[in-house]
Amino acid sequence: MTKTTIEPTSLNLGPIPFIDLAAQRRHLGGRVEEAIARVLEHGQYILGPEVFELERALANFCGVEYTISCASGTDALILGLLAKGIGPGDAVLVPSFTFAATAEAVALLGATPLFVDILSDTFNMDPESTARGVHFARHLGKTPRGVIPVDLFGQPADYDSLERIARVEGLWVLSDAAQSFGATYRGRRVGSIGDLSATSFFPAKPLGCYGDGGAVFTDDPDVAEVIRSLRVHGKGSDKYDNVRIGINGRLDTIQAAILIEKLAILSYELTSRQRVAERYEAALASLVNVPRLPPGTTSAWAQYTIILPVHARDAVAANLKRRGIPTAVYYPRPLHTQTAYRHYPVVGNHLPVSEDLASRVLSLPMHPYLDERTQDWIIHEFREALSEIGS
Ligand SMILES: *Cc1c(COP(=O)(O)O)cnc(C)c1O
Repeated sequence: MTKTTIEPTSLNLGPIPFIDLAAQRRHLGGRVEEAIARVLEHGQYILGPEVFELERALANFCGVEYTISCASGTDALILGLLAKGIGPGDAVLVPSFTFAATAEAVALLGATPLFVDILSDTFNMDPESTARGVHFARHLGKTPRGVIPVDLFGQPADYDSLERIARVEGLWVLSDAAQSFGATYRGRRVGSIGDLSATSFFPAKPLGCYGDGGAVFTDDPDVAEVIRSLRVHGKGSDKYDNVRIGINGRLDTIQAAILIEKLAILSYELTSRQRVAERYEAALASLVNVPRLPPGTTSAWAQYTIILPVHARDAVAANLKRRGIPTAVYYPRPLHTQTAYRHYPVVGNHLPVSEDLASRVLSLPMHPYLDERTQDWIIHEFREALSEIGS
C-alpha cells in the first residue's frame, strides 16, 4: 500500500454521517418497501404474522428458546423486571455508566437501582464493585434481587464473573443487550446470556428498525409466557381476560417486517463493522486508548469509543466538528450524578472509573457502510485535531 498525503479537496467527501442509515437503505434495495407493502396488503398491523416470523428468526439467530418482541428496549427491560416481580424493598444492581433506561426500568417499578462502577478497559460492569454492591444492598436493608449488566458500545460484559456472583448470591441476571445484538461471548450469542436478555431496535442500534422496537430473550418457558401476557395488558386467554397488571408493549407488524429484512443482512454488517474497528485500532492505538476485546468475545460495535487524555476530550471534539467530523459523547454524565438518580445508593459513595471516563470518552463515526476513503479522512483529521490541542 502506498502512503500518500490526503488532500481534503481531492477527496470531495460530502457531509460525513455519524451513523449512515441512508447507505444501509441503499444496500437493502427495494426489500424494505416490499416488506412494508405486504403488511399494508394483509392489514394485520398489531401482532400480524411478521411479528411471529421475526421472533422465530431472532430466536434461531441467538440460539435461545423464546423471543418476545416488544415496543422498545426500555419496554424489554420493564417486561423482564415485571416478569421477575420486583418492587419496593428490592435492589437491582446496575452500572452507572449507561443509558438512563437501564436504571429507569428498575426505579419505575418502585425498586432501588444500586449503582456500581465499570472497568476502564471494557466500559462494562466491574464484578468486584458488583459483589460489594450486593452486600451494600443488604446493609441498607434492601433485598438484592438481580443484576443488569450492560454490553456497552456492543461489547459483552464479563458474564463469567457476573454470573458466578449472581449464582453465589441467589440473584438473576438480566442482560441489557440494547447495544450488543449480534455480539458473542465465549461461544454464546448475545440474547442467550443470563436468565433473560433485553435488546432494542431503536434505529441507531446494531439491529435497528424504522421506529421504536425491542425484544426479550429467555430459555425459561414460564418467564416467556408471563412476558407474552404482560405485553398485552396482562392478558389471560385473551386481552379481555386480565390476569395480571401489564402494559401495551407490542412491536408493530410493520417494524417486524422491516426487521426481518435487516436481520438477513446483519452478519454482513457485523463483519463490516469489525473491519472498520480494526482499521481504527491500527491507526489510533498508538495515540489514544482504543477498545480492546477480551479473548473469546466479539463486539457488535454499536459505537467505536476511545478514551482521550484528561482535559483533552472537549477540545478534540470541538476541533473535529470544525473539520466536519461528527463525534458523540456516550455518556457525558454517569447516572448516579443525574438529578433523577442521585438519591439512589452508590457503591463506595462514588464511582471513580465512571466519573473519570465520562469526561474522557469520545465516539467516532461507526457503521457498516463507512468506506475506507472516508475512514482514512476521519483518521487523518483526528490526528491533526489531537496534535493541535497539544497532546
Ligand atoms: C438504547 C438503550 C436502551 C433503551 O432502548 P430504547 O429502545 O431506546 O427504549 C436501554 N439500554 C441501553 C444500554 C441502551 O443503549
